[in-house]
Amino acid sequence: MSEPITRYKNFINGQFTALTGAEIENYNPSNQRLLSTIPQSNEQEVNHALDCAKDAQLAWGLRPAIERAGFLHKIAQGIRKNASELALCITKEQGKVLSLAEVEVNFTADYLDYMAEWARRIEGEVINSDRAGENIFLFRKPLGVVAGILPWNFPFFLIARKMAPALIMGNTIVIKPSEETPNNCYEFAKIVAESGLPAGVFNVVGGDGGGVGHQLTSDKRVDMISFTGSVDTGSRIMATASQNITKLNLELGGKAPAIVLDDADIDLAVKAITASRVINTGQVCNCAERVYVQPNVADEFISKLKVSMEQVTFGDPLLQDNLDMGPLVNKIGLDKVAKMVETAKIQGAEVITGGHIADLGAGYHYKPTVLANCSNDMEIMNKEIFAPVLPIQIVSDLSEAITIANASDYGLTSSLYTRDISKAMQAVNQLSYGETYINRENFEAMQGFHAGTRKSGIGGADGKHGLYEYSHTHVVYIQA
Ligand code: NAD
Repeated sequence: MSEPITRYKNFINGQFTALTGAEIENYNPSNQRLLSTIPQSNEQEVNHALDCAKDAQLAWGLRPAIERAGFLHKIAQGIRKNASELALCITKEQGKVLSLAEVEVNFTADYLDYMAEWARRIEGEVINSDRAGENIFLFRKPLGVVAGILPWNFPFFLIARKMAPALIMGNTIVIKPSEETPNNCYEFAKIVAESGLPAGVFNVVGGDGGGVGHQLTSDKRVDMISFTGSVDTGSRIMATASQNITKLNLELGGKAPAIVLDDADIDLAVKAITASRVINTGQVCNCAERVYVQPNVADEFISKLKVSMEQVTFGDPLLQDNLDMGPLVNKIGLDKVAKMVETAKIQGAEVITGGHIADLGAGYHYKPTVLANCSNDMEIMNKEIFAPVLPIQIVSDLSEAITIANASDYGLTSSLYTRDISKAMQAVNQLSYGETYINRENFEAMQGFHAGTRKSGIGGADGKHGLYEYSHTHVVYIQA
């Protein structure tokens, strides 16, 4: 018997609003069953959300930050109380395994608490003046209304990554979830509604990118666009934002190089690179996407990686416990990786394991794959794969690896496996990346700073620097 579907409603001005027109259907990627519908919001609804966010902002921004923090703590508590249902909701619509969905939910609650704790630590500056009797003050002020546009890969956490710093700095926000994974965002809104957060401070409008996303990013009432997604969409949003010179924070794609030197702990490198590549079925912006290994250890590394990738378990996460991976999020993603691997084979890549779609009867599954004999002129070494596929290239030394790694369009994440601290420091000094991990898998901390160079984005998230992205600096001169 099929499950009943939920028809979600937009959350605007503290209320779930009536459905007014078209809806978008949402399916489970493990079995293609219909889960829900969300509104394909029309122009009036998006306008209403922006009006309400604008109207609420002044009073919200003038409240002491510690009061704003109180609401974030309440929302974090609500998330913890509903953690199991929320994790299930994410797994159903996105396909990640339940254990990872649980990590995502708990991390989201911790993130809200972490950002709330900045309330008493937001600081301005007092600067000596050249004029007698004058003081110069720098205030950190909210920007106004933030439009948060979300992708589908960590859909629940990314709500908090945008709304928590935005709200603690005194902004209001209108969120548009990805049309692939919107349900968890409406469940988040239910918790917000119960927290008593003032109306208009947090709003959710459903819809597609070209319609609702475009309307949000082209509207004058929006003071900052906080976008996470692909480079192509980021580039389109940048063009749209140029009309109103709207401030941008863009967290885009990656092509993370993992460099394995001949003095590395090979077992550690194999374990960490496998974990990084298969978490969330390889659909993480800072996953290891390509490997550079030195000749002396290449055979050992490749044979151990083959074993490790062949041990990865996958399937429908709601039918089997303790799987390593679920399906890819949609057929577009599956077709994309299948085509990329076929092209790599034609260009000379050797399939060590995998190399094809895994037919489990339902769901978008691709076999964990290792490709050797790759070179930096191949598409697979340059374009984001976003699936459990690892192409490997042999390099003579660290300098060559760094040169090739830096020649990428992307600059989000990089990693290095070595026991030599001077080689680690050479990499840190020469890699042109927003993040570098030494002897560990790629996964960021909330108190760090997540940002990319080149086409991986503009600005960053997390920690103090991520928080201050959601502010502007107001200088005031007071002549006594
Ligand atoms: P996407 O760019 O296809 O879509 C992201 C969002 O943008 C969706 O909500 C979509 O509706 C919206 N959108 C589409 N066109 C738009 C337009 N013209 N104007 C406004 N909004 C529009 O990305 P995706 O497939 O959902 O996510 C995967 C991508 O996200 C990958 O490239 C991944 O690397 C990247 N990502 C980056 C980070 C990071 O922190 N750097 C984190 C997660 C994902």
